[in-house]
Order: sequence, then C-alpha cells, then structure tokens
Amino acid sequence: MFKKVLIANRGEIAIRAMRACRELGVQTVAVHSEADKNALFAKYADEAYNIGPAPSSQSYLNGDRIIEVALECGAEGIHPGYGFLSENAKFARKCEDAGITFIGPSSKAIEQMGSKIAARNTMIEAGVPVVPGTNEAISDPEKAADLADGIGYPVIIKASAGGGGIGMKIVHSRKDFHTALNSIQSVAESAFGDSTVFIEKYVEEPRHIEFQILADKYGDAVYVMERECSIQRRHQKLIEEAPSPVITPELRKQMGETAVKAAKAIGYENAGTVEFLYSKGDFYFLEVNTRLQVEHTISEMITGIDLAKQQLHIACGEPLPFKQEDISIRGWAIECRINAEDPLNDFAPSPGKIRRYRSAGGPGIRVDSGVHMGYTISPYYDSMISKLCAWGSDRNEAIDRMQRALYEYVVVGVTTNIPFHKAVLRHPAFREGNLTTHFIDDYNIIDD
Ligand code: ADP
Repeated sequence: MFKKVLIANRGEIAIRAMRACRELGVQTVAVHSEADKNALFAKYADEAYNIGPAPSSQSYLNGDRIIEVALECGAEGIHPGYGFLSENAKFARKCEDAGITFIGPSSKAIEQMGSKIAARNTMIEAGVPVVPGTNEAISDPEKAADLADGIGYPVIIKASAGGGGIGMKIVHSRKDFHTALNSIQSVAESAFGDSTVFIEKYVEEPRHIEFQILADKYGDAVYVMERECSIQRRHQKLIEEAPSPVITPELRKQMGETAVKAAKAIGYENAGTVEFLYSKGDFYFLEVNTRLQVEHTISEMITGIDLAKQQLHIACGEPLPFKQEDISIRGWAIECRINAEDPLNDFAPSPGKIRRYRSAGGPGIRVDSGVHMGYTISPYYDSMISKLCAWGSDRNEAIDRMQRALYEYVVVGVTTNIPFHKAVLRHPAFREGNLTTHFIDDYNIIDD
C-alpha cells in the first residue's frame, strides 16, 4: 500500500478519498486554493499546501504545480477525485512520467474515452450497442443535415469532447438543424476548445442507467451493479438510486457483462462507470466515465464494497479481491445531491455563509459533505453542500428514510434545493419507480 497520497481535489470528494486513505493507514496531502485555506478537507489532511489563487485555472487545474508538490512532499500517488483534472489524459500522463501513480485508469484509456466519437467507434467494434448516429465528426453542414434526415428526427447534436451536460442540443426538424449545429459548434469550441460534433438519434423517454466497474491491472474486471440516474435537470443528475427499479436480474447480467466487455475493450483499469440509455427494453452505450463518480456512494451502500479503498488497492497493483459471483445486492439506496441553489429561481447558485447547520442522521443515513456551520460556500466552485444518501431494506424503506432525513436536514444562511428533493420524493410517480430523464419537466416538479 502507498505510504502517502496527494488528493488533487477539494470539498466532499477530497474528504472521501482521505477517509479511504486513513482507514488504510495512508498519509494524506491536501492541495488547496487561497479561497479554501480554512476548508474542512484542508484541515482533515495530514499535510496541506496552498497552490494558488481561487480561480480553478490557477489552482485545482494547475497540474504542473500539483505534481511539483507531490514530488516535494514524497507522495507516491495522486487521487484526482471527480471533475478538475480527473479525466485529463495529459495530467495522468504527466503523473506517469514523473513516477507518481495516478489513481485511476491509464492516460491512454482516459484519452480514448475523452472523445465521444472515438468511444462510440471502439464500442461498435467491441460489439456493444450504441445509439444510432454518425460515427465520424461532422464537417459539411449540408451532408450533416442529410445524415440527420436518415437517422430520423428528433436527433441530438453532441460535442465530441462534451461533458457535464454541456454541448448537447435536441433538434426536431431539418429547418432547425443548421442553427443548432452552429450553436453547438461554438459552445463546444468555447467550453472544450474543440468544435468537433456528431449526431445521435434522440432516444425518447429514456432512463439513464449506468454500471459501476472495477478492473485490476491483470485483465480482471467486475461490475458492481447499476445505478439509475434518470432524475436530471439539463442533463445533470440530481437524484440517483441503486439498484434500478426497472432492471430484472437477467437484464442486469446482460448489461453488466456488456459493461465489463466495454471496459476490457479499452484495457480499463481502476474504478469507472459505463453509462447506458435504456428505453423499452433496449439499452445503448452512452459513454465511459473514467473516474470515481459523485454517486458511487449508493453502490457502496447496496454492495458493501468500499470503492475508494478498492481504487487504492488496484492502483498499488493488487488483484481484485472478489469475483463477479461474490458481489450481490442488499437493500436499496438513494442519493440526493444537496446543493446551495435556488429551485424557485432557475436553480441559481446561492453561495454564502452557512449560519446554522445540522445534517440528517439515524438509521440508514450517510452524509458525505465538505461543509460545517460557519463555512462559506465560495462562488468559485460548485455549489454542493453534501450528498445525502439513504439505505433501506427495500425501495420503499429507502424512500421513507430519505424523506425523514430531508425533514431533519437544517441549513440556514444559504438557499438549498432541499424543497425540490422533497417534492420529487413525495411524487407518486417517483414512488412507483416510473422514471425517465424528463421526470422533472413532465411533472412540473419545480412548480409543485
Ligand atoms: P455528458 O458527458 O455531458 O454527461 P452524456 O452523453 O453522458 O453527456 O449524456 C448526459 C444526459 O443527456 C443523459 O443522461 C441523457 O439524459 C441525455 N442524453 C444524451 N444522449 C442522449 C440521446 N441520444 N437521447 C436522449 N437523451 C440523451
């Protein structure tokens, strides 16, 4: 096992990675911006270094400075968390070149999956079903419109380098195609520095179902079951659950084995997620997320596997300690992302000082958070307060516990999306497990 690991992230995920290190007797190093010098994660670590001013571009995205700190303090590994540099192939390569273990997949695998077009083509070759669409970058707009006609409207134009729900547009007819194409190309250029786009059939009424993967250095890989993440706003997840109410044991096996096949096709190593869209009994590959995801917690709760610790074991070259048949599901888990944002004002971020804070607790509740009373949520970073997770022996108990936990949760000083979560959880369609990615719009949750 490593002696010392640097965590190249902030907030709750930095603490999550440090908790795994602490349980394994690994020393932890935090790197933080000027704005985060009093943040909990910086205090939690055994050592903490200020790496630059508040803007991420000058701190959390400054890979060279982070590697320098790792070398200076003798950290053997870097855990990238999610966001920031976690899916940056160049950073992973620089770690490899500096002789530091990047706790994640190889830079080659990250690079391959960083382009949605390349990922699609790799999956087609591996026999993994993909959404019907184009397999090359769009160059000629007229030809592209012809291709969209062939695929059949509605289609979705996507940035190949896109992520975080940015760089996607649904088009309903040919007359809107060119305007949409231009707008996505310019969004892609400004957000990702790459204007490459492609087209997919827009799958109507889909569910977002993803499989957690763990793969070791020796070619062994398992799926740690699925999560359903259909409750989204602007293609971003807000509530996730595991397992999915719609997946039968047969389908779980089929999709899980497909996810493992996808991981093996790219020589994947460490923890990752294979995302699918599911509609009317069919499933289609969407993308591979080459990191530990926000919602990994609920997979941990239903399987008893500590994914963050497994990441460290795998990165140290240990073989997987279990086989597929050793992994089973116990109960049900739900996650609500508690954010400082105003559901009544288009979910606008609501940074500021938390004047009173009391998180939920009691049976079946897990709270992963980087905040405390008196903490100021900075406008520089995301507005997450915590990940509130509830476990129950079945789905109904998990929902009941989540509702009770949302009732207990007190945050004063900033506006939160807790009322939004309450509205979703009490909706009869949610209770029935009747979910699609349009849930929030279809049921007018915000106006509830
Ligand atoms: P990102 O990398 O930005 O997260 P994804 O490709 O993972 O983008 O898609 C995010 C979400 O966008 C999906 O969960 C789904 O709700 C929606 N989406 C993406 N592609 C399609 C599609 N072809 N049809 C319908 N919805 C889609």
